[in-house]
Amino acid sequence: MIVMKFGGTSVANSEAITRTISIVKGKLSERPIVVVSALSKVTDLLYKIADQAASRNKAETEVLLAQLRARHTGLAHELLSGHPALCAEACAKIDSICDELESFVGAVCSIGELSDRSKAVIIGNGEYLSSNIICCAMKASGIRTGYIDARSMIVTDSCYLKGEPDSALIEERVPAIVSKAFDGQEAVITQGFVSATVTGEPTVLGRGGSDYSASLIGMAVDAERIEIWTDVDGVRTADPRKVENTRCIEKISFEEAAEMAHFGAKVLHPLTIEPAVNKNIPIYVLNSMNPEGTGTAILQSSFIADGVKSVSFKENIFVINIFSTKMINTSGFLKKVFEIFSENRVSVDLISTSEANISVTVDASQNIDGVVGRLSEFADVIVDSDKSQVSVIGKNIINLNGLLRKTFAPLQDCKIYMISQGASYVNISFVVDRSVLSDVVRQVHKYLFENESCN
Ligand code: ASP
Ligand code: MG
Repeated sequence: MIVMKFGGTSVANSEAITRTISIVKGKLSERPIVVVSALSKVTDLLYKIADQAASRNKAETEVLLAQLRARHTGLAHELLSGHPALCAEACAKIDSICDELESFVGAVCSIGELSDRSKAVIIGNGEYLSSNIICCAMKASGIRTGYIDARSMIVTDSCYLKGEPDSALIEERVPAIVSKAFDGQEAVITQGFVSATVTGEPTVLGRGGSDYSASLIGMAVDAERIEIWTDVDGVRTADPRKVENTRCIEKISFEEAAEMAHFGAKVLHPLTIEPAVNKNIPIYVLNSMNPEGTGTAILQSSFIADGVKSVSFKENIFVINIFSTKMINTSGFLKKVFEIFSENRVSVDLISTSEANISVTVDASQNIDGVVGRLSEFADVIVDSDKSQVSVIGKNIINLNGLLRKTFAPLQDCKIYMISQGASYVNISFVVDRSVLSDVVRQVHKYLFENESCN
């Protein structure tokens, strides 16, 4: 069995879906479980609908809901014009999903209050719309296709907008559901992103979570491999929107991929790697616009050479500096500090400490007010904003001759606020002003990747 996940751009319109279906068709002998995202931009539209409903802009929600319905109905007609019965089936599904969503949004508009729980219901609809249409289109193309509601498989806690999966329960449930859905079928399709609590309340896995869905399902069925189909030729040495002369990386280790995803590379959802590592399932990042390409393979470390693989970055981070003389010669201070981060669900990237100071970096998309408030009760806290974090990532880079010199050589005039070298030997990270980020990433990439001894 294999898992094939198709992101929003791979299912954006009828041409993309037709291409996607022909990719699936080529792999039927491997029993593909197809995991789809919402059509591109649809999840953004659903977020907008949720926000407008919360502000009681009923008229605006109606305009947006009509757009949502029209886009999907139009797509169904385009894809299924030669198959009236399947077209009717798809349109009936679209109508029932949209009708239910409209009455839900109407209720939110009347109350004028939007809980995370209600928001999870709204934003998960894009995946239900896309998967129902694509299921009919797969059948129309002659693929015998089973359908699964992912909410029956992916169990999370009740953190509604970023559910924490319960791996044990998922492993228990998925194999039986999948094998039943395959009964008499050549492929099955399900949604990415959506999940539910153990009592069946809708949750989602967080933005970009379809990759994570794919790897959780892959883990649970012991898939031969997990294919993440996107719109780029695999993982690159740096973000091509910032850097010239980037290269596609043929293969990287699970650890390198996890570091890259955590430290800013936008190709994979950061949590995707973990379920795959546990079962040693290779992940391939492939381009649905160029299905002949080899993409990037993410494999066990023993298959991967030492060396720098990428220069990643996080554009917008906070550096939280914590000063306290109480820290000197005492134990338990770090514990107290990190408990506060954990209680407030703020995740920390880099840490550096000295005798009376701890500096940590956190992604600026997180709300740090609670953390800063609690820390300020016993320490002086200064938050630096408009900072960026750059990470040089690669297996055993510590062994490379002159790596630090090469990394920092082009940055002689640049102020560096923090440096951290992970014990795992896969990551050297540092913090610079956001205003110089583009320049720094370009220079470091150029210096490292034009120097053969680093690769
Ligand atoms: N549709 C969801 C999002 O846009 C999940 C995904 O695409 O992976 O975040
Ligand atoms: Mg994605």
